[in-house]
Amino acid sequence: MLNFEQARQKVIDEVSKRGGAIARESVGLWEALGRVLAQEICADRDYPPFDRATRDGYAARAAEVKPGGWLRCAGEIKAGEEPGAALSPGTCVQIMTGAAIPGGADAVVMIERTARSNDEVSFTGPAETGQNIVPRGSEARAGEKLLGPGARLGFAEMALAAQVGAARLEVVKRPRVAILSTGDEIVRIEEVPGPFQIRNSNAVSLAAQTRLAGGEPVLVGHAADREDDLREKIRKGLREPILVLSGGVSAGRYDLVEDVLRGLGAEFYFDAVAMRPGRPTVFGRCGDTFVFGLPGNPVSTMVAFELFAPPAMDVLSGAAARPLPLAEARLGKAVREKPGLTHFLPARVERGGGMAEVTPLGWKGSGDVAAVARANCFLVVPQGKEKLEAGESVSILLQKDLV
Ligand code: AMP
Ligand code: MG
Repeated sequence: MLNFEQARQKVIDEVSKRGGAIARESVGLWEALGRVLAQEICADRDYPPFDRATRDGYAARAAEVKPGGWLRCAGEIKAGEEPGAALSPGTCVQIMTGAAIPGGADAVVMIERTARSNDEVSFTGPAETGQNIVPRGSEARAGEKLLGPGARLGFAEMALAAQVGAARLEVVKRPRVAILSTGDEIVRIEEVPGPFQIRNSNAVSLAAQTRLAGGEPVLVGHAADREDDLREKIRKGLREPILVLSGGVSAGRYDLVEDVLRGLGAEFYFDAVAMRPGRPTVFGRCGDTFVFGLPGNPVSTMVAFELFAPPAMDVLSGAAARPLPLAEARLGKAVREKPGLTHFLPARVERGGGMAEVTPLGWKGSGDVAAVARANCFLVVPQGKEKLEAGESVSILLQKDLV
């Protein structure tokens, strides 16, 4: 049985064979947050476009700046203004952050290191050539590639696009993810369940996770634990590049998802992962669709989706698979779990003065959504470890909202 890292890699490897399969569209930059770029973005001119002052102060010749010495102030340059005439010997000009350095000047002395009396500026120390100046073109040269296809647009990437005037962008369409829940006991969230029925919370969490990962959820509904109904609904889901099913993949008599998929021509790359929750997770391909069959217990569904589906969405979009947000923390109290499986336990991490400390929450297993709602991370108990001691350094999966 694969461990969760191997299973994740298997997803990446299999989807990579069809990487970049998703079509493109053009969007305005304001709407591009989180999207995957499908074009190059190049510098439209040098950056900075002129030698730029990085401090408010005085532009001068470094060699003329002496502790206790003074220079005559010959004027002022604001950001956005042309710098005007070159500095004459024995003079300096007052300059603002972001303004262009005048010819002849090779240093900016911070205002805090000067004193002014009428037109005379005196200095508390010497200056070095180039200080507080960013030379023209040192951040990027005109025509230089700044971002390329596959880059994911966060706020810094968007600012970079804005800087060079890329107001419309070619991006990859959001990958459509079909979501199908299964199980005779499940009712719609608007319904009042009978005494032994439960509401379909998985469709909601899966749609939210799909959105967070940059995809577009496509709700194909709910199937009863019957081959004919499953087959019909699965067929609908197979119109999309990714199909995620919840429920029906365990070993029970009514867990029919794998059989029905096989009947539709699916091949499977794994049908179990050495982890808890989420052990019976299935991943395969049916026609052009990658299919994830996730165990139906809500926490299993959440954890398994988060570990395996986003990298598939990334790679299909032509982007690199985002790494899992793992971090280290000190364990607050000892934990004992069954060896042989990697356990993901709902936990809270607090960042005090030193290293972050993580404490697992009491929970009732993979149906306990309330425990995950109280948690802010998952504690990762490695496969080979039966016991983790208090004070040990352990792995956590951060950002519960992304897990
Ligand atoms: P299964 O994986 O089909 O054996 O489902 C295991 C358990 O997960 C079920 O008994 C339900 O309690 C729960 N479950 C299955 N599907 C859903 C769903 N769509 N929403 C909420 N809970 C579910
Ligand atoms: Mg079921």
